[in-house]
Amino acid sequence: MKGKILVVEDESSILTIIRTYLTNAGFTVISSDNGLDALALAKQSPPDLIVLDLNLPGMDGLDVAVRLREWSDVYILMLTARGEEVDRITGLQLGADDYLTKPFSPRELVARVEALLRRRRATSFRSHLTRFQNIAIDPDGHVAYAGDKALDMTATEFQVLWALVRHAGRVLTRDQLMTQVWGANYYGTERVVDVYVGQVRRKLQEATGKVLIETVRGVGYKFVDDPDR
Ligand code: CA
Repeated sequence: MKGKILVVEDESSILTIIRTYLTNAGFTVISSDNGLDALALAKQSPPDLIVLDLNLPGMDGLDVAVRLREWSDVYILMLTARGEEVDRITGLQLGADDYLTKPFSPRELVARVEALLRRRRATSFRSHLTRFQNIAIDPDGHVAYAGDKALDMTATEFQVLWALVRHAGRVLTRDQLMTQVWGANYYGTERVVDVYVGQVRRKLQEATGKVLIETVRGVGYKFVDDPDR
């Protein structure tokens, strides 16, 4: 078995095609035609990857992705219809790992699914640590290391760091950080993000002598692996 895929798609003809191709490629497929059931299913029987249609009746794909990201790092491949450029970008910001525009070739979909899962294996093979030049992160143990030394961080500080590290080299807006760390239903101010990022940056700097989190003015923050380069 190559992995379990949850397909969330309300159009039964498309669902059937996706299911057929993924099953033939060796995956176990579970499915749902709406967001609420999909969330329940993902919790009850955690999949390795979710193929998520953007346009769903009731709760749409973006809402599902945001809710999922409150407690899950599962890979999400978002399906969008043509001309949903804005939604597509938002979808990626909200935590989809890749997207595919309809109509798509089912072979392409299988290739994308396999590519995402390979990415996961490549990282988990090297033990549980995600290593950078200056620090290493153990996402399961919620610990960051500089050399052999574990950094003293609060749970929230670690979540802030982990969110930035997962998007290393890319900018995360304050809004995205807030959603990923505090959840979509948190209505605090973005100031709290600045405070936590400041604390994390200071701790990293004390431990490594380097500024590993850059402020991108007017946009947000970025984790940089090797700031000297
Ligand atoms: Ca649909």
